[in-house]
Amino acid sequence: MSEVVKLSQSTGARERGGKPGGEALLPRPQHEFPFNAQHPNALAIYCSDGRFTRAVEMLAEEALEHTRLDTLTIPGGPGTLSLQSGGYQECEHMRRAASFLITGHHIETVILVAHEGCGWYREKMGFYPPDTVRERQVADLRDTAQWVQQKHPNTELHLFYAHSEEDTLHFERIHASPGA
Ligand SMILES: [Zn+2]
Repeated sequence: MSEVVKLSQSTGARERGGKPGGEALLPRPQHEFPFNAQHPNALAIYCSDGRFTRAVEMLAEEALEHTRLDTLTIPGGPGTLSLQSGGYQECEHMRRAASFLITGHHIETVILVAHEGCGWYREKMGFYPPDTVRERQVADLRDTAQWVQQKHPNTELHLFYAHSEEDTLHFERIHASPGA
């Protein structure tokens, strides 16, 4: 019986730790940043490759005036939403995830970025010349854009292909249809 009382007192002390006057019982957070509870209205779908993470955020801010983004990052980026290159299950999974964000977070702008030297494409197409891989990546960007447009007709789309020259990264705009 005394053990039960002891346990509940100790739990109570921990609970009080989160309330005013009890903060000293919990370690203070080491890192604090501003938080905006409102969801961004732009979604960027791109490769997990960390060489591009910050650059895609900068692109969204500078070229499209989106300072905050929802992101869907996975090796291969937009290519995984295209049945031309993604496997059926992978494609379905990624499309569901994209639709979840677009619908649930009221996304109005979708940014699709492919990049040169992508390991996901190299694994699938490493034996093809770089130009052929690039053509496939551009075709996948357009295919994914077409899917987004059909499924979510009110979204605005921006397609880019990133390539580097020495220590500079260039984002080339890709038109959603080849003839545009
Ligand atoms: Zn990649």
